[in-house]
Amino acid sequence: MQHLRWFFRIFAAMTKQNQISSDKLRSTLEEFWGYKEFRPGQEQIIHSIMSGRDTLALMPTGGGKSLTYQVPTLAQDGLCIIITPLIALMKDQVDRLKKLGISAAAVHSGMSFTQIDIALDNCVYGDVRFLYVAPERLATEAFRLRVQRMKVTLLAVDEAHCISQWGYDFRPSYLRIAEIRKLIPDVPVLALTASATELVAEDIMKHLEFSEKNIIRSSFARPNLSYAVRHTDDKNEQLMRVINNVQGSGIVYLRSREGCEQLAEMLREQGVSASYYHAGLPHAERNMRQEEWTSGRTRIMVATNAFGMGIDKADVRVVVHYTMSDSLESYYQEAGRAGRDGKRSYAVLLVASDDKSKITKRFEQEFPSLDTIKSVYEKVCNFVQMAVGDGLYASVIFNIHEFCRREKLYIGTVKAVMELLEQNNYMTLTDEMENPARVMFCVSRDDLYKIRVDRNDLDHIIRTILRLYNGIFTEFRAIDEQQIAAISGYTVERVKELLKRMWQMRIIRYIPSNTSPILFFNEERLPTNDLYIAPETYHHRKRLMEERFENMLTYSMQQTECRSVVIQRYFGDKEATPCGVCDVCLENRRRQKSDSSNIQTTILHLLANEPMSARELCHEIKAEPKLIASVVEQLQQDGKISASIGGKLIINE
Ligand code: ADP
Ligand code: MG
Repeated sequence: MQHLRWFFRIFAAMTKQNQISSDKLRSTLEEFWGYKEFRPGQEQIIHSIMSGRDTLALMPTGGGKSLTYQVPTLAQDGLCIIITPLIALMKDQVDRLKKLGISAAAVHSGMSFTQIDIALDNCVYGDVRFLYVAPERLATEAFRLRVQRMKVTLLAVDEAHCISQWGYDFRPSYLRIAEIRKLIPDVPVLALTASATELVAEDIMKHLEFSEKNIIRSSFARPNLSYAVRHTDDKNEQLMRVINNVQGSGIVYLRSREGCEQLAEMLREQGVSASYYHAGLPHAERNMRQEEWTSGRTRIMVATNAFGMGIDKADVRVVVHYTMSDSLESYYQEAGRAGRDGKRSYAVLLVASDDKSKITKRFEQEFPSLDTIKSVYEKVCNFVQMAVGDGLYASVIFNIHEFCRREKLYIGTVKAVMELLEQNNYMTLTDEMENPARVMFCVSRDDLYKIRVDRNDLDHIIRTILRLYNGIFTEFRAIDEQQIAAISGYTVERVKELLKRMWQMRIIRYIPSNTSPILFFNEERLPTNDLYIAPETYHHRKRLMEERFENMLTYSMQQTECRSVVIQRYFGDKEATPCGVCDVCLENRRRQKSDSSNIQTTILHLLANEPMSARELCHEIKAEPKLIASVVEQLQQDGKISASIGGKLIINE
């Protein structure tokens, strides 16, 4: 049955593909994006998908994965569903598509039930071409019922490695994708990821129920990026050296927020134009700082790994890691922000002699015990006021920083707990998002009329809200204070003040706009003692964390193999060739040069005594025969020696 279906899919695609030529794909690319050419790998992936084959595409971050599902969708009719875990990226993609005049929608945990319903209905009845769905929403009835009525032509799975239990980023909700496939059986799947070991790649194809194995791998080489590692116990001095030696914009990555502030200060004191960025800054402030850096008004950004998403700057000349990343994946991605324009750029990692022990110790401290997991679970549920037995599929705003402050918990530990809770399918913590203000009435409509609102302004604002937002009696609705102000004729400040007043009078519940992640309950809240964390996931996670860091350490400690080769092998490319521009390659070349010049002297010395054959020279000189041969060749080319009739080498007079 499976095979028959597959055959039909390919057959149908074959007839269809004849109509959608490479020209059509290219004109779609140019029409919507204004790009003339596909990037390496993109076209191959698109052809594979258009011929109806399930496809796993491995491509580095920034390589252009989005276009591989967007172009084929636009080149034909119908809708593309994309599963992706990050709300911020989802919003970013939807905004971009809308700017291009393409209708797109998203369904994620930051939305109310009504908003989700509207979005899904638009996909059934409207002209939506792209629907982005957060994996945890796949289980919901609202989604399952609608998806079968949509005209889906492609299912794209972004960050596909999340489906593998072998991987560090495992998300159980990804396993639900196979169930969705059954609902739309004739739709091919395109799995996209920037990080998959062989084991993970196999797992992706298995769990997504590929009809046959099909991997398309792009190169992870960055020929214009020169990697280097500097071992030093005076990182500031090294950093200054790097920054003074390289022209143009740069990023300095650092673990701690305070560290960022201090280092930026230090740079400014040294006369370098620098600013800092971390998730502790208010959203508007972050945007402003990023914009100043992007436009070139600030030269160096000192930042935590919160700085990254949506960086659209091609001429970053240097990325320095003042502290090590947790994994080579992160390192590659962060370092890779340098040199997007293809010009020579540098990725420098600074390592101090005690870094290894310091970071290992921190891992130990941060990794939660089973008791800690239970206690944090309880505290989190209390913090968001979720009662035992409640909460299935609920999503609530969860200000993790506020929580840590109040409970005096270390954020690294809390994040590790949340990840383990997610892997055991209890709850999902999304990335941070800008949340609009929300309002819900805590009195019924009838009661509302009974309450004597003897202030005209309150009465007016209530009427305005009721006119603008329906469903506000049954659930929290996102409101727009600006809009309310515009309609009511009040200033935004006045509106906010009145909302607060109503909140104090217990007429409404009011959550002002904020930036924080959302907590989604995959399960109702359990009595804390019933919480079960599978020992496998617990130990496995710890081991994976150690392994990942081990790889990062190896990269930084080894001095003999090309850095780019080490990285590419990590990403599964066993045939990578040395880059020629990293510190190891440069050192090798320098050494080879000095070796060559030594050999040259020796050869000339030996031949001055008596003519010798190449073989005899190799016998006399302790060096690689290949290297000796190349020096001999060079000497001949330079006319310093030549071969006599007997085959012996002689010095030219
Ligand atoms: P990924 O998902 O692989 O990290 P994206 O899909 O977000 O990468 O693409 C990264 C950037 O590359 C985007 O700004 C995108 O517009 C750009 N891009 C993608 N394909 C092309 C192309 N063929 N020509 C020029 N720019 C492209
Ligand atoms: Mg992407």
